[in-house]
Amino acid sequence: MSKAFRSVVVCSVAIASVAAVAQTPAPTKRVMVRAGHLLDVKGGKMLADQTIVIEGDKIVSVDPASQAKAAPEAVTVDLSNATVLPGLIDAHTHLTFDPGGAGYSRLGISTPREALTGAKNARITLEAGFTTVRNVGASGYSDIALRDAINAGDVPGPRIVASGPPLGITGGHCDNNLLPYEYHAQGDGVADGIENVQHKVREVIKYGADVIKICATGGVMSKGDDPNASQFTFEEMKAIVAEAHRLGRKVAAHAHGAEGVRWASDAGVDSIEHGHLMDGAAIAALKKNGTYLVPTLYLIDWHRENAAHSDVPEFSRRKMQMVSDAAQSNAKQAIAAGVRIGLGTDAAVYPHGLNAHELAVYVRLGMTPLQAIQSATVNDADLLGWADRIGTLEPGKFADIIAVDGDPLKDVATLEHVKFVMKGGEVVKNQYGK
Ligand SMILES: [Zn+2]
Repeated sequence: MSKAFRSVVVCSVAIASVAAVAQTPAPTKRVMVRAGHLLDVKGGKMLADQTIVIEGDKIVSVDPASQAKAAPEAVTVDLSNATVLPGLIDAHTHLTFDPGGAGYSRLGISTPREALTGAKNARITLEAGFTTVRNVGASGYSDIALRDAINAGDVPGPRIVASGPPLGITGGHCDNNLLPYEYHAQGDGVADGIENVQHKVREVIKYGADVIKICATGGVMSKGDDPNASQFTFEEMKAIVAEAHRLGRKVAAHAHGAEGVRWASDAGVDSIEHGHLMDGAAIAALKKNGTYLVPTLYLIDWHRENAAHSDVPEFSRRKMQMVSDAAQSNAKQAIAAGVRIGLGTDAAVYPHGLNAHELAVYVRLGMTPLQAIQSATVNDADLLGWADRIGTLEPGKFADIIAVDGDPLKDVATLEHVKFVMKGGEVVKNQYGK
C-alpha cells in the first residue's frame, strides 16, 4: 500500500467515527429573556413587556409577553425591571494598549505582553456592554491573536473586527518615530508608493486582518508629525481602497486635517476616524460620498478632567490642545449636516470600559438620545458590514443583549451603567439576580 493511499484510508476511518459522534448532538440551549422594556433601536419605539426567545447563540423571536411562543426547557432570565437593548458596538478601540503606554514607555512592551493587556481590556469592555468592537491598530498582530482566542472561547471578550498593524507612510503617524536612525525602528504597517501599499494590504490580510486601517494624516500621540498634514497621497489611498475592497475588506482612515479627510473620503474609504480638524469642504465630501465619521470625542473631556494624571507625552501636548479646541465644533457641524456617524472612542487613550461616555457627548452636540444609541448599534453594524448579525434585537441575529435601569431615551448616560450583558446567548454579567 502506498503511503498516500494508506493516509486516505486512515482519513476515511477518522471521518466515519466523527460522523458517528455527530449523530447525537447536544440539545440546543434555549433561553427566554423577559424584558420589562425593550428598545427597538431601528424604529425608536420603547416596547413594554417583551419576551426574547434564544436558541443557541441566536435570537429566534421577539414578541409581546402575552403572545410569546412556548419555549420548552428554556432557562428564564428575568429583566422585567430593566430596559433591554442590543449589545453596543465601538468602532474604534485599541484593546491591546493601556493609557500610559504612549511615548517612550511603549518601547518596553513586548507583543506577547500587549496581547495579555488585550485579554484584560476585552473583558472590561464586554462587561461595560460592548459586545462588538472594531480594533483599529495593534502591534505584531496581537489583536488578531486576541480575536481568535475570544472566538475559541479561551478568554472572555467582545466580537472583534481587527485590523492588525495600521498602514502609514515612513515617518507618519503610524510609523515608529521614537528612536534615532541607528536603531532602524519601523512601524509594522509602513509602506510608500502604489506597489508597496498594495503589497502591504495583501500582507496584513494574509496575517488575519478583517479591516484595513490607514493613517491619512498626522496624529496627536505620535512624535514629529502634524495632524493637519496629509500623509498618504490621494493616489496611494485609491490604490489601498481598490485592493482592500477587491479582497472584501473595508477601510478605516485615521484623519484629522481637512485635506486628508477629503482625499480619504474621495478615495472611497468606509470611515474617517476622528476628523477633528475638518473644514466645510471635508464635511461636504463625507456627506456626498456617504462616508461614516467615527468622532472619538469623549477622550477630550477625559483628558481635560484628568489633566493631572493623564500622561500625554511632551511632544503631544501642543497637538492635543490644537485638536481639542476644534474637534467638538467640527463634529457638531457634521452631525447637523447629516453625515453618517458611527460611535467610536479610541479607548486606550483613556481607560477601557468608559466607552459609553461617548454617547452623552454626541447628545450634547445635537443628536437625540435615540440617534446616539443608533450610532452605537445599527450604524456601527452597517459600518462593520455586520448588519445581518448584530445591531438590533431581531430573529436571526446574535443574542447580544444588554440591560440598564431607567430610560436611555430620556437619559443616554444610563448606558454608562450597564447591569446585564449577554453575548451569543451566554450571560456574561447579571446584576439583576436570576
Ligand atoms: Zn485610534
